[in-house]
Amino acid sequence: MNRDGARKSIWQEEIKSFSSDPDFETVYDVAIVGGGIAGVSTALKLQQEGKKCIILEASNIGFGTTGGTTAHLNDFFDTTFSQAVSDFGLDNAKIFAKAGQDAIQLIKNNIQQFNIDCDFEHKSAYLFALDEKQDKQLKDIVEGASKVNHTLHFTREIPFHVPFVNAVLIPNQAQFHPVKYIKALCEVFFNLGGEILEDCLYENHEEQEDFIIATTSKGKIRSRNLVYATHIPPGKNVLSFVNAPYRSYAIAFSLKNKNYPAELGYDLVDPYHYYRTQTIGGETFLIAGGEDHKTGHAEDTGECFSKLENYVRKYFEVDLVYFSWSSQYYEPIDGFPYIGKSPGSNGSVFVATGFRGNGMIFGTLSSQIITDLILGRENKYADLFNPSRIKPVAGMADFIKETAATAFDFIKDKLLKEKIESLGGITEGEAKVVKYEGNSYALYKESNGKVHLLKSSCTHAHCDVRWNSAELSWDCPCHGSRFNVNGKILTAPAVKGLQRVDSDENS
Ligand SMILES: Cc1cc2nc3c(=O)[nH]c(=O)nc-3n(C[C@H](O)[C@H](O)[C@H](O)COP(=O)(O)OP(=O)(O)OC[C@H]3O[C@@H](n4cnc5c(N)ncnc54)[C@H](O)[C@@H]3O)c2cc1C
Repeated sequence: MNRDGARKSIWQEEIKSFSSDPDFETVYDVAIVGGGIAGVSTALKLQQEGKKCIILEASNIGFGTTGGTTAHLNDFFDTTFSQAVSDFGLDNAKIFAKAGQDAIQLIKNNIQQFNIDCDFEHKSAYLFALDEKQDKQLKDIVEGASKVNHTLHFTREIPFHVPFVNAVLIPNQAQFHPVKYIKALCEVFFNLGGEILEDCLYENHEEQEDFIIATTSKGKIRSRNLVYATHIPPGKNVLSFVNAPYRSYAIAFSLKNKNYPAELGYDLVDPYHYYRTQTIGGETFLIAGGEDHKTGHAEDTGECFSKLENYVRKYFEVDLVYFSWSSQYYEPIDGFPYIGKSPGSNGSVFVATGFRGNGMIFGTLSSQIITDLILGRENKYADLFNPSRIKPVAGMADFIKETAATAFDFIKDKLLKEKIESLGGITEGEAKVVKYEGNSYALYKESNGKVHLLKSSCTHAHCDVRWNSAELSWDCPCHGSRFNVNGKILTAPAVKGLQRVDSDENS
C-alpha cells in the first residue's frame, strides 16, 4: 500500500521510495515529520538555506492527502474573502489574499530552478451558481474579493455543459501533478545532502535545553528543531481539537466526445463540486471531486462515489471511470490555517495544519513561513497564521461540540440501533463495531473469511472508530485518525495503532 486508502488515486503510479541510512548520533538542525507537500517543501527550503535536515515519514513520500488531492492551485479559497474581512478585518484579509499568488510563485520558482516536469499549467477558474441561492453566495464572494483588490469578472460563458444562472471568471490559476512535483523536490533535497527515513513513525518527543529527542519506530532522532508536517499534528496537541477532519471524493473519467474542459470549474453546491482535466501516459481524464462529509459521519462511504458519478454523468458524456479515491482534509475553527510555532512548545517545534481544501497553496506557503521563523527572519504571514492565536468566532461552541460530543452521540446511537448480540453476526466483506460482554470491538471479515478483531477505541482520544467501506479503513469521527483492518495507523493524529485482539484465519 502506498497511499492511505485501499483505492488507487490518479497520481499514485509516480510514488517512489526514498531511503537514507541515518547516523543516530547526528544532531540534525531540523527533523521534519511527514512527507507530503508541506513537509517536503519545507525540508528542501531549509536544506537550501544550509540546514541539515531529515524527513521522518511513517509510510512513504506522498502517502497522505498529497497522494489523494486534486491539485488545483488557486488564489481564492474555501474561506472566502468576505469571511476573512468580517472575522479578521480588512488589513488581515488583504494579506490573506496574497497567499495564493505567493505560493504559486514559490512552486514556479522550484519548477524553474530545478527543471521539474510536473505538468504545471496556468489555467482560468470558473465559479458558477446553479440556482438563486448560490447566486447570492457568488455575489457575496465577488463583493468580498473586491474589498481585498482581487477582481473577479462576471461572465455569461463557462467551458462546462452545466446549466448555470451566474458565473465568474478568475484568471491566473494553475494546476499540476502533485506527486511528480514532490518526488522531484525529494530528489533535489536528497542531492543536497538531506535525509529521508520512510516507514518511520514519530511517536513523541522531549524538548531539552540544546536539542529535541524524537522517539520514532526506528530509534531516537536528535534535532535542534522539529516540524510537524503531518497534516494534523500527531498526539494530543490542542490543534487536533480546533480542526475538524473531512473526507472528499474524486473520480477520473474518460469522456466519449473527448470534450475535456480546458479550464478549472467549481459550482457552489454545499458541498461543492470541482473539475479539472489531466493527461497521464497519453490518456486524458476529467477529474471531478466533491461529496465531502465529516470523517466517520457517512453511513455508506461507497455511496459518496455513486452520488459524485451520477452528478457528473448528468453534465458530461462519461465513457469510463478509471480512478476513484477519497482523502482527508482539515477544517480550522476560524477558517485560517495554523502555520508556525506549535502551541506549548518552547519555540523549537513548528506545525502546519488547517489547510481546508487549499493545502497545495498553504502547504507550500508553510515552507517559507517555517523557514523564516527558524532562521529568525520576518514573514508577513507569521502573525496571521500563528497557531497560538485565540480567536473566539461565532459558532465556536458548536464547532467544539461537533468535533467531540456530537460525534460520540452519533456512534452511541448507531451502536444501540445495531443491537448486535454476538461476534458471529457478520458476513464476509462486512465490518461492524460490535458490543461483546461490555466491550466494544471493530470487526472486519475478509471475503476469504479471515476475521480481523480490534479494540474499537481510537488510541488518540478514545472515541469509537467507524467503518469506511470505500477505503477499507476504520475512521475516527472525533479527530480523524484512521487505521487499516490490521489496526495500523493510516492518518494522524494517533501515534499508536488500534489494539489487535484476535485474528481467526479459519472462521
Ligand atoms: C480529495 C481532496 C482534494 C483536494 N484538492 C485540493 C486542491 O485541488 N488544491 C489544494 O490546494 N488542496 C487540495 N486539497 C487539500 C490538500 O491536498 C492537502 O491539504 C495537502 O495535500 C496536505 O498536505 P500535507 O503535506 O500537509 O499532508 P499529507 O500529504 O497528508 O502528508 C502528511 C504525511 O505525514 C505522515 N505522517 C502522519 N503522522 C505521522 C507520524 N506520526 N510519523 C511520521 N509521519 C507521519 C503521513 O504518512 C503523510 O505522508 C484536497 C484535499 C482532498 C482530500
